[in-house]
Amino acid sequence: HGSLGDAQSGRVISHFGVQLDVEAADGEIHRCRMRQNLPSLVTGDNVLWRADEDHGGGIIEALEERISVLSRPDRHGQLKLVASNIDQIILVIAPLPTPSNLLIDRYLVAAEATGIPVWILMNKTDLPEAEASMEQISIYQKIGYEVHSCSTHVENGLDHLKQMLIGKNSVFVGQSGVGKSSLVNSLLPGVEIRVNTISTNSKLGQHTTTTARLYHIEEGGEIIDSPGIRDFGIWHIEPEAVPDGYKEFAPFLGACRFRNCSHQHEPGCALLAALEAGEISAERLKNCLSLMETLRAES
Ligand code: GDP
Ligand code: ZN
Repeated sequence: HGSLGDAQSGRVISHFGVQLDVEAADGEIHRCRMRQNLPSLVTGDNVLWRADEDHGGGIIEALEERISVLSRPDRHGQLKLVASNIDQIILVIAPLPTPSNLLIDRYLVAAEATGIPVWILMNKTDLPEAEASMEQISIYQKIGYEVHSCSTHVENGLDHLKQMLIGKNSVFVGQSGVGKSSLVNSLLPGVEIRVNTISTNSKLGQHTTTTARLYHIEEGGEIIDSPGIRDFGIWHIEPEAVPDGYKEFAPFLGACRFRNCSHQHEPGCALLAALEAGEISAERLKNCLSLMETLRAES
């Protein structure tokens, strides 16, 4: 070890195995190692670190408390952290590829499970199909999700989107082809979106790790992006947890007569009663049950 500078706060903006890039308060980026007693760190973490004045780089000494985490299951079903301190999940959809409300539900269920606020962004409003798509997803507004729209092609709604990002750390998720790369590129002009991929030839066989990276938007706000994060939501979700992700069901969950109620035909089912009373939608209940079915089949 060389001599170490004073402890200062910093932000992990990307990580490569044991090496982490830490951004100091002045915006400088330092490649750091971490003290062995620390848990594994991810992009978005706030840390205390000291510069290694003789060799450059630095050493991370402490992790500050995380306000939120995104984690995904690995091949063995173990949850692995992907990023932290995210303030909002933006679910991007578009008229094309045509959104399916079942898939939107799947993303929302995954987002609700993180506890991180989520809202919907309809991209590609320049397409003629946009109006019909907005109509199709109006149910989400009724439930209480915010829906905003924009186009990256005709620069419609982008200023409004930038306003929504100021002062926050955001991730864009959603199905392939909806325009997430286009959005990120238009928010970060001049930044080449590098995908940090490290291939390791370990004894366990070859595998590729893709790490998330934190970017600053000129007008304010941050984005954490990686192909792995964009995939968020189609990761495995426990089938039993699905109804908890239907936030308008909350008042009725746990109120069914039978604890193992399938919410399909049982007497005393609180969800069926809510449906009858017009308090929840038939489409959402149907999608909830079919999502549980799909996830059971996947596991
Ligand atoms: P991603 O897979 O979600 O990252 O989507 P991409 O950013 O790669 O975009 C998929 C396709 O949609 C590309 O052909 C883009 O040019 C197109 N696209 C992106 N934004 C818009 C938009 O606002 N309007 C239209 N019409 N096409 C868009
Ligand atoms: Zn029930």
